[in-house]
Amino acid sequence: MNLGAIEAGGTKFVLAVGNEEGEILEKKVIPTEHPSITMPAVIDFFRGKDIERLGVGSFGPIDVNADSAFYGQLQKTPKTEWVDYPLGKELQDHLLIPVIIDTDVNVAAMSEAKWGDAKDVDSCLYITVGTGIGAGAYIKGETLRGLSHPEMGHIPVRRHSDDDYAGGCPYHGDCLEGMAAGPHIEKRWGRPAEELVDRKEVWEMEAYYLAQALVNYIYIVSPERIILGGGVMKQKQLFPMIRTMVLELLNGYVSSPYLTEDTIDKYIVSPGLTDEAGVKGALYLAMGSRM
Ligand code: ADP
Ligand code: ZN
Repeated sequence: MNLGAIEAGGTKFVLAVGNEEGEILEKKVIPTEHPSITMPAVIDFFRGKDIERLGVGSFGPIDVNADSAFYGQLQKTPKTEWVDYPLGKELQDHLLIPVIIDTDVNVAAMSEAKWGDAKDVDSCLYITVGTGIGAGAYIKGETLRGLSHPEMGHIPVRRHSDDDYAGGCPYHGDCLEGMAAGPHIEKRWGRPAEELVDRKEVWEMEAYYLAQALVNYIYIVSPERIILGGGVMKQKQLFPMIRTMVLELLNGYVSSPYLTEDTIDKYIVSPGLTDEAGVKGALYLAMGSRM
């Protein structure tokens, strides 16, 4: 049986045909443009490929509640051309097959749990620190969804004493994303994050915000592994800083063999899968993890 998978991102759509074993048989990447340009190309790719189900891991916010009349509809996304776009319905109407939708970070968490860095545990968080900050969670066979999907990038954070950056989230100002996403590193320090490699204070401040967030996630979600990806996390020096600060902030309160100086480098990790995490997670959705 052939299955379809889409990783719908803010800059590109990754389209794939795979099988029930989770193997990708064919793949194509197209740029994310206006829906009137991107969507016909998406539908063209899948037509005639004998797909029985389609899984989609999408940028958000998006309605991921399968019982909702607006299931699969994008919401207040910063990609303004896609606001309110009925992504799930369009795919279903044109391809006439079941379409299963979740967020890009939820499917990445699921993918890491199935094939990547969290294979040996029952729960994990996948956090991306890039143009925005988003996190997905996979817990004992299900991604975390409820009222909507989690919006862990928008939690409030305590301000660093040396930081006078106002914060750049259009909704909350100095939430985590508004303080620590790539574009806000650039605005605070006047240069793109990738050009600030040697500035220790930049990464200490970044780690300060990310460690606070991780501690909150540990308290609330209690994941057995935390995977940090996205462009900003290419600065590998962040990992030891974040690990140390997380242990300091927890101050021994949560007892777990994962949360010690000797083990935390296996708890807070970089992604195990390469750029296929999203599309493989979408394929896993189509394989029927939620049927
Ligand atoms: P997106 O979030 O759009 O999928 P990325 O995860 O690559 O894409 O995030 C882009 C952000 O990451 C930009 O703000 C960029 O400055 C930052 N970034 C990309 N590469 C690096 C790097 N090597 N070091 C630090 N920051 C980076
Ligand atoms: Zn915000």
